[in-house]
Amino acid sequence: MEAAAKTVDFIRELFREPSGFIPLHAPHFIGNEKAYLNECIDSTFVSSVGPFVDRFEAWMREYTGAKYAIAVVNGTAALHLSLQLAGVKRDELVVTQALSFIATCNAISYIGAEPCFVDVDKNNLGLSADALRAFFATCEVRNNACYHRASGKRVAACVPMHTFGISTEIDTLVELCNAHHVPLIEDAAESLGSTWKGKHTGRFGLLGTYSFNGNKTVTSGGGGIIVTDDDELGKMAKHLSTQSKVPHRWDFVHDHIGYNYRCPNINSALALAQLEQLEHFIADKRAIAEAYKTHFADSSWEYVALPEHCVSNHWLNAILLGSREERDQFLTFTNDHGVMTRPAWELMHRLPMFVNCMHDGLTNSIDIADRLVNLPSSFRPSVA
Ligand SMILES: *Cc1c(COP(=O)(O)O)cnc(C)c1O
Repeated sequence: MEAAAKTVDFIRELFREPSGFIPLHAPHFIGNEKAYLNECIDSTFVSSVGPFVDRFEAWMREYTGAKYAIAVVNGTAALHLSLQLAGVKRDELVVTQALSFIATCNAISYIGAEPCFVDVDKNNLGLSADALRAFFATCEVRNNACYHRASGKRVAACVPMHTFGISTEIDTLVELCNAHHVPLIEDAAESLGSTWKGKHTGRFGLLGTYSFNGNKTVTSGGGGIIVTDDDELGKMAKHLSTQSKVPHRWDFVHDHIGYNYRCPNINSALALAQLEQLEHFIADKRAIAEAYKTHFADSSWEYVALPEHCVSNHWLNAILLGSREERDQFLTFTNDHGVMTRPAWELMHRLPMFVNCMHDGLTNSIDIADRLVNLPSSFRPSVA
């Protein structure tokens, strides 16, 4: 593993981490985090309402250009609510990726709907437009709804995910879904700040969701955002996330089964302080990505580079090794030497809960899962 040793040295030099251990992705709190959290505590507004919730939502509206931004407890809850708002019902199909974090499939399962896996694109690791086109060829449109012919089930939504911050060919995916009357929800949990043809990921579908979990580009401890331009859905998202309480000064009346999915003021305060630094974080993450790209240029391993039209937040860098065996040797060597690396997620169709779900063979997903490794990608306060 001479090449792995060279890469470990390179990563040590890149991050110059005094503790010696180099994590995959660590949060940094170097802005207004403490000031805003103190403000929360001093005001006693630490829970489900408060000025920071409003400021968090306003910041996200302004940054992404969305008409509505609704703060919720996490990205998984944002996906769950979005699927419900898009009209997904029990036993219906939701098209998504097998190469994704479990949250996407869990949210689909909370509704009682069934994930249906189509392959990813080799160039961007997200839902493939060609695979989606091929899937739709097995469906038919009746009464403005899409039905999968063999199962007779309605295709109720499509949820592409922008893997590691790299945008899918989202405009083409939206076109395909619109032509088949299938609402599209973007799982933009990993891609806050990434754009496709100059427009923010999360802003192409009917609804888009972001995560502010501790391992993401910016964090609120736990938190999520739903964005949409649709007046009815935007208002309903807020309503359902707040126990569907009918606004009144003292009466407690609720008109739907709602959820306690509000993002607390204290998490919103942390989110806002982090968002103020988002572009600064991304600038350094871009420099890290460039350094990796140069390092792997004359290597037999392939650095996962950005396709045309995509500007990434560079959440996690990735390389493709020659084989699963080589991947495992690399993982062992780097983790043994204090450099945290990890493989892609186990593909969803191999997990016990989803083994019986439909899929299209998933050729690219399987190849990528066999060979991909994520590399340390944290913002570097000491360098930037
Ligand atoms: C992080 C993530 C989510 C949401 O995660 P939460 O921890 O619930 O905020 C959803 N989908 C993907 C692909 C993710 O990476």
